[in-house]
Amino acid sequence: MEASALENDISMVTSPEFPAAEDPIEVFRSAEIAATHPAEADLFARHEGIPAHDQKRLAEARIVLVGAGGLNSWAGVGLARSGARSISVIDDDRVDRTNLSRQFFDADDLGRLKGKALAQKLARQAVGGAVATGVGLNFEEILEAYPLPADIFVAGVDNNECRMQVVREARRRNIPAVFTMLSRDGMRCQTFLQSASTLEPCLWCALPNLNPEQVAPCASAIISSCLMASAFTIFFTHRAIMGWGNIPYFNWRESDLSGIAPDRTGVIKRRDDCTICSKPNG
Ligand SMILES: [Zn+2]
Repeated sequence: MEASALENDISMVTSPEFPAAEDPIEVFRSAEIAATHPAEADLFARHEGIPAHDQKRLAEARIVLVGAGGLNSWAGVGLARSGARSISVIDDDRVDRTNLSRQFFDADDLGRLKGKALAQKLARQAVGGAVATGVGLNFEEILEAYPLPADIFVAGVDNNECRMQVVREARRRNIPAVFTMLSRDGMRCQTFLQSASTLEPCLWCALPNLNPEQVAPCASAIISSCLMASAFTIFFTHRAIMGWGNIPYFNWRESDLSGIAPDRTGVIKRRDDCTICSKPNG
């Protein structure tokens, strides 16, 4: 079977800092899908008229996805398709068979580092062309090893320790971060936009009872809730990058797939007793 033109455009660059057998960092590139005629409408023509949409700002933003599982793999597809051109993906897990029912991986990805496998896929999803950096390290390791450029973090992970690291690193850099979480039964999602400003609340202001030690890898998950949650993740990421225009601002969204709990949208305020916000530089 012949490789497509797009496949040929995806080149692989390895980083010199990691001479080990498997390099944990790979960069994948894709070119914009070209028009066949000069009169053809722009790729993103249908975004015109979408409230607060700014294609240029989205194209220029350096988006870092922390986690490449059920939440961020779909959020990544949405961001890449809608015109994000610089995406890094951090995840040191490897793709296993149980992931395939709800994550954007297939048989060819089994055993691969998720950060790298998803970055390669997102380069192909980026119809406007993109540079996608795949990182098969955990968040703490990558911060130590590599000056990861970022204008926003998108955290779709299943443990509070990593969420805490993202909260602090976003504060340290004065950049926004989006957090997405699923309930244990996989039916309800919560999404929070942590603003770049330290005057605004952090994730722990929103959820003060989050236990930093807690890991929830065995929680239930199904693709329907992952896709629902990803829509809100993409929306918050778009807003953090492009602004709100005439859309009334909010930073919290909670939704229940089953419809049992009412959907909630709100503005979380900073808490004076928040242990993270009360420390200088988070
Ligand atoms: Zn706080």
